Amino acid sequence: MTDTQTTKKTTFWGKMPLWQKILIGMVLGIITGSIMGPDAEILKPLGTLFIKAIKMLIVPLVFCSLVVGVTSMQDTRKMGRVGLKSIVLYLGTTAVAITIGLGLGTIFSPGAGLNMDASTVSQATKEAPTLVQTLLNMIPTNPVDALAAGNILQIIVFALGLGIALTLSGEKGKPAIAVFESLAEAMYTLTGLVMKLAPYGVFGLMAWVAGKYGLEILLPLIKVVAVVYLGSIIHVVVFYSGLISLLGRLNPIPYLKGIATPAAVAFTTTSSSGTLPASIKAAREELGVSKGISSFVLPLGATINMDGTALYQGVCALFIAQAFGVDLEFSDYIVIIATSTLASIGTAGVPGAGMIMLSLVLTTVGLPIEGLAIIAGIDRILDMARTTVNVCGDLMVSTLVAKSENELDQDIYSAQPTSDSAK
Ligand code: ASP
Repeated sequence: MTDTQTTKKTTFWGKMPLWQKILIGMVLGIITGSIMGPDAEILKPLGTLFIKAIKMLIVPLVFCSLVVGVTSMQDTRKMGRVGLKSIVLYLGTTAVAITIGLGLGTIFSPGAGLNMDASTVSQATKEAPTLVQTLLNMIPTNPVDALAAGNILQIIVFALGLGIALTLSGEKGKPAIAVFESLAEAMYTLTGLVMKLAPYGVFGLMAWVAGKYGLEILLPLIKVVAVVYLGSIIHVVVFYSGLISLLGRLNPIPYLKGIATPAAVAFTTTSSSGTLPASIKAAREELGVSKGISSFVLPLGATINMDGTALYQGVCALFIAQAFGVDLEFSDYIVIIATSTLASIGTAGVPGAGMIMLSLVLTTVGLPIEGLAIIAGIDRILDMARTTVNVCGDLMVSTLVAKSENELDQDIYSAQPTSDSAK
């Protein structure tokens, strides 16, 4: 019996990491689509299956993980001030990240000229609601309606309120919190299962896309990767360094050196949660952040701070809008910034979570979710960059908060890292 299991586990395909399978699915899909031409449409249902499964996850996943994200701060209420500073910095930098993404996406227009056919895709007719209307629409008059209709912004607002209320309810709130924690866990597991379909879904969708639109689709994909990487570098090297020197009055060079190891771990594992041990070690030993601050601010960041993910969502939303020839209004940009920033709170720090959240952003703005198929094939490459930014952001905020609380050991911070890392 054990033998059979071992044999199963060691099959070549079974052992291969998911991202490699997805990449293979993409390449095979492109090849198949180019050979079959428009006939490749028969493979599209494979992709539709995957997309539908992802859509199925959005509402329960966002709702449960957001409630849990808020209630997880319960034990640390005494750290209110530190929490508030961290959250303000986390959300503020996330909004900047997505703005950079939108800016670069506008300048480089990676999706321009793709002329994907949006006519077959259901889209909300755009009447460009005013900013006030957009904000008012975020408040659900009936949360059950919002859940049933999948109105993500309203769901986010209600989940935040419920999370805060459960926390404030003390002992009485605890059973419900436990239920949400358990449901959130189940939703992460279900996400993992659905992601197993990704290679096949991506295969079907890429075959369809390549068959219908030809190989010209590849160039824009390279552009998307380049734009996301450029934005990531700007965000870390220019923006984070700038905040370290302006707000923290510190030399940014030790920060940039200190984040190297967790950045490398994040880049290869594409999981902020998985990188947490490396981040905490680096924060304490390289950046001089106190134990108290690092063990509160970093796990919080790994859960709610996703600057790289937000930047990626900005670029990809624009890419998809450009590819499908959808004109975005100013209010759409505001909605993208608001949704991505708030959704980052509910994004799990695990591989691929950002792509699920991208579907949420697309749905909210009324962009064709089918665009996700084009992104999915290269998502791992994008995930490497965005997770690195996510982790560097957590470390930046922990450094700033520690400095402001007088809990930054400046001797450790300023010490040039040497090769003898004993201790
Ligand atoms: N993989 C990212 C992280 O763990 C989340 C994402 O997919 O954007 O930070």
